[in-house]
Amino acid sequence: MRVEVDTGMCIGAGMCALTAPEVFGQDDVEGVVVLADERPPPHLHAAVRDAVDRCPAAVIRVHERG
Ligand code: SF4
Repeated sequence: MRVEVDTGMCIGAGMCALTAPEVFGQDDVEGVVVLADERPPPHLHAAVRDAVDRCPAAVIRVHERG
């Protein structure tokens, strides 16, 4: 799995960081998403998919075979 985020479109809602904190963080200034792990290990994949579903701006993309 490979994860991408469009930081320019992130609205800083923070759902990703709550859902998969090992993979997503937020910057200290505006709360924009910071990708901590572009290739998360298998045990985190379900949480990453949940984060995709919960992101209100739909800016997280997952490439399952990336
Ligand atoms: S859930 Fe989406 S909009 Fe919110 S911080 Fe994460 S990437 Fe940005």
